[in-house]
Amino acid sequence: MAIWGGILKIAVLTSGGDAPGMNPAIRAVVRAGLNSGHEVYGVMDGYQGLVNGNFEKMTRKSVSEILQKGGTILGTARLPEFKELSVREQAVSNMKKLGIDCLVAIGGDGTYRGAQALTEMGFPVIGIPGTIDNDLAGTDYTIGFHTALNTIVDAIDKLRDTASSHQRCSLVETMGRDCGDLAVMAGLSCGAEFIITKDHPLDKPTLIEKLKVHKSEGRRNAIIVITENITNVHDLAEEITEKSGFACRATVLGYVQRGGSPTAQDRILAGRMGAYAIDLINRGITGVAIGEMNSKMIYLPFKEVLSMNNESTEELYQLVSKLQ
Ligand code: ADP
Repeated sequence: MAIWGGILKIAVLTSGGDAPGMNPAIRAVVRAGLNSGHEVYGVMDGYQGLVNGNFEKMTRKSVSEILQKGGTILGTARLPEFKELSVREQAVSNMKKLGIDCLVAIGGDGTYRGAQALTEMGFPVIGIPGTIDNDLAGTDYTIGFHTALNTIVDAIDKLRDTASSHQRCSLVETMGRDCGDLAVMAGLSCGAEFIITKDHPLDKPTLIEKLKVHKSEGRRNAIIVITENITNVHDLAEEITEKSGFACRATVLGYVQRGGSPTAQDRILAGRMGAYAIDLINRGITGVAIGEMNSKMIYLPFKEVLSMNNESTEELYQLVSKLQ
């Protein structure tokens, strides 16, 4: 490895679920890295590329015109075998062969677990939160969250139009894994009548009773937003139709939430975080994940971030019913 403080070789990868804004983050790491006098290498397909030795030397031009592109130009992958020490040893050996001094890993909590495992092996890593789910602690928002949120809001507004025309109830399933942030903030943005998340579980009798009241008040539509992995929404829609008097249709938004051009907010967050990653590397600080808290860039050890609880959106959830 080079003497810290001199010209370093920095590798950057994107891993786990793709998120809009990963490209601006890659661009920021590459440009800020080159502008600090370092060499930057892109790793293809996340940890898979580390293990396969799939590195590409990046130039200013390699990241031209990607700010507005969804997905990730480096590709991403899931590699469960990265939990095995021998597989990670192969990855570290490939990085050492190329003389890589430090890795910047952009991804979600799984990616952070991989980064922590590399840190424990003595390899310097910096993490950048890139996931639409906003399910990481140590940052107010993750890169990709706002773009996905806007996609969901756009979809729900459209679903409201058709639900109202047909006097229906629309049940909309969002992503988020175990995190309800997308559902709660989309629900708040769209004036959803009901929001169901892991923290606010499905209570069918109450939901159906409230829908009956809603209908009896002459309301022409109702929107229910529900986080994925809670129930089969098509079965739930059928049950609502049978028992509430509201014809209900379920829509699973699925992967459209992960695509699309990143919003300005995600581009700015990605730019700040990418530049901050290089800043930390220049200061010799590694083994940490970057976050934005109260508009300021911060960093915390991976171990801490992975053991902390993600900040609750309870206040926003309560606001939904106050504004109904
Ligand atoms: P995300 O980063 O979006 O949460 P995943 O959970 O799929 O996505 O994690 C991305 C990758 O991180 C996994 O495919 C695996 O290669 C690596 N990873 C996840 N958990 C661990 C772990 N405990 N140890 C080492 N690597 C891990």
